[in-house]
Amino acid sequence: MYCNICGNSKENISIFNLKICKSCLGEIENLNIEDANYDYYKNLMRIFLGYYVNTPLILNSVN
Ligand SMILES: [Zn+2]
Repeated sequence: MYCNICGNSKENISIFNLKICKSCLGEIENLNIEDANYDYYKNLMRIFLGYYVNTPLILNSVN
């Protein structure tokens, strides 16, 4: 299994339905607003959350 961000195939962990390697996770954790990659990772996290939010909801209908 490969990291969904950089394609690295080692030391990956799963977050929701995505795979991310420790290298990318460390970059995200150490990110600050001045970082040129901030918008890039911010968008990635939005995608992560999108995957999470888009998991099917089971609604109970009231009869
Ligand atoms: Zn990676």
